Amino acid sequence: MSRHKWHPQTIAAHAAGRTDRTFGGVVAPISVATTFERGADYQLADETQKSYRRDFNPTVADAEAVVSALEGGAQTIAFASGLSAVTSVMRAASGPVALQRGTYYGTSSAAAFYVERGAKIVEFDPTHLTTLDAVLARDKPALVHIETPSNPLITVVDIKSAADRAHAAGALLAVDGTTATPAIQQPLSLGADLVIHSATKGLAGHSDVLAGTVTVADPDLPIWSTLKSMRVLEGAMLSPWDAFLLVRGMRTLHLRIREMNRSALHIAHVLAGHPGVARVRYPGLQDHPQHAIAAAQMSGGFGSLLSFEVAGGAHEALAVCAGLNLIKRATSLGGVESLIEHRHSIEPASTGVPPALLRLSVGIEAVEDIVADLTDALSAIA
Ligand SMILES: *Cc1c(COP(=O)(O)O)cnc(C)c1O
Repeated sequence: MSRHKWHPQTIAAHAAGRTDRTFGGVVAPISVATTFERGADYQLADETQKSYRRDFNPTVADAEAVVSALEGGAQTIAFASGLSAVTSVMRAASGPVALQRGTYYGTSSAAAFYVERGAKIVEFDPTHLTTLDAVLARDKPALVHIETPSNPLITVVDIKSAADRAHAAGALLAVDGTTATPAIQQPLSLGADLVIHSATKGLAGHSDVLAGTVTVADPDLPIWSTLKSMRVLEGAMLSPWDAFLLVRGMRTLHLRIREMNRSALHIAHVLAGHPGVARVRYPGLQDHPQHAIAAAQMSGGFGSLLSFEVAGGAHEALAVCAGLNLIKRATSLGGVESLIEHRHSIEPASTGVPPALLRLSVGIEAVEDIVADLTDALSAIA
């Protein structure tokens, strides 16, 4: 045992020490069995005491161990999707939920769906946390849910301030940190109680896995045992095939995120100086409204996701999309290939996504190629 404390990048490269304990292979195997044998004494075999894959799977446990190590958390549970992780946390709360306005559309849609069915979920403005104080005083939520940087408006929320305000009112803070990944943002170290990821995105990083995770700082919180029961009873367990690819993907997390962050910052500057672009939303730009908060709570970069508004409206934005040859027109983010999406075509007008907005997830291609593709496409309108 070394007494040196390994860096997160090192822990990720070694999959948090997970190996093949049977044969000594340096990669942990995929364990696919749905059921576990009992002995003649009718006792379960090993130390895990598990009997069925919906309750426990060794490959899923490997993925959970890596995420816990990267988040600096005590425990992680992996879900079948990011949205399953988000909605499980919302429903596991023992009371009303305070939800940031302008989250990922799946999150706000799920919240609206539950509200229609009697749940109490109240919104606040994440750029003015006094509105959170008002909600905390009035509605006494058990849980506050924030998403930072948010998707697709790239709003940055002050995690520490939100945690302090929630705790002062007796509420827990959950942070959806999907767009940042633990490579550059660790919400638990800033006071959050739970950190949620759509591991489908940057954590797995190759657009071939659907997965979600929730990591806790204090596993004695009542919400944690509720969440663990929910995963079993609602059957939201991650598949071991996806868990294996997630572990594989996270080995290169820091390399990928470093390159994507660097490219995203460069692209944000290029777009900000382009006559065909009216506005760029990227936390790494000085003129981002929460640049100072982002600089304080993120380290090693500002993420791979940016949004920009084309000069004009939906017509011009779609024309720029149509003119791209490299960047793929597709939903999702955080993968090695750059993706662009016109969210206004996807979300109802009520979510407030500007018609001219394009969301760009920057991949690991040569940045010159991404820039050339964007500037070629923009020349069609400028
Ligand atoms: C994609 C996404 C989710 C949902 O994750 P899935 O894996 O697609 O279910 C949740 N939060 C954010 C911020 C996302 O971008």
